[in-house]
Amino acid sequence: MKVIFATGNKDKMKEIREILSGMDSVKDVVSMKEAGLDPEIIENGSTFEENALIKAKTVFMEAKSKGMTDILVLADDSGLCIDALNGEPGIYSARYMGKDTSYKEKNANLIERVNKANTTRRAEFVCAIAAIFPDGESRVVRGTIEGEIADKEYGENGFGFDPIFYVPSLKKTTAQIPPEEKHAISHRGNALRLMRKEILDYESLNC
Ligand code: IMP
Repeated sequence: MKVIFATGNKDKMKEIREILSGMDSVKDVVSMKEAGLDPEIIENGSTFEENALIKAKTVFMEAKSKGMTDILVLADDSGLCIDALNGEPGIYSARYMGKDTSYKEKNANLIERVNKANTTRRAEFVCAIAAIFPDGESRVVRGTIEGEIADKEYGENGFGFDPIFYVPSLKKTTAQIPPEEKHAISHRGNALRLMRKEILDYESLNC
């Protein structure tokens, strides 16, 4: 089974490769670009799970239309949900304040809004991973990690909202820890570990 990951986000793809490299059941993963696929994906779902399934299905259909067989397509839809902002930016995380705004500005804006709300600083990263198996069967899982919105940016690792995502048990943001440490506890690491179980289960039933 060839594994194609339906994302054009380089930061996510880097993390996905790092996490999957430790999993025997999901070895040779290629990005959709590497597979020669670049379909228009219309992310109009209302949950992380729906959007992950939309991405995976769109890429699966395109791959099939190009004659590819025996493929497993995986997709990630993820984001940051902040309690004091009623779950924002949530499924709109990638589009928050527009694509041309830097994460420095986005992070500063979120800190300011959380400060103003003056309630809780609790937040959660969410990651839904969807799979479409060679016979068209779909499965979707969700991984999360709880944290708080920091008072300013800390750390240089990771990407996006990592410098403001503070994990109280570590007393650090997810940008202050090395990648392996982030993957061991992160929403994406947790979701991919759940998906690994789904893949093994599918294989035990179908192969
Ligand atoms: P998606 O590509 O529509 O799933 O959007 C994901 C967006 O959520 C990213 O572009 C980031 O803004 C944010 N995000 C998701 N996971 C992470 C993470 O691990 N660290 C930092 N930001 C993240």
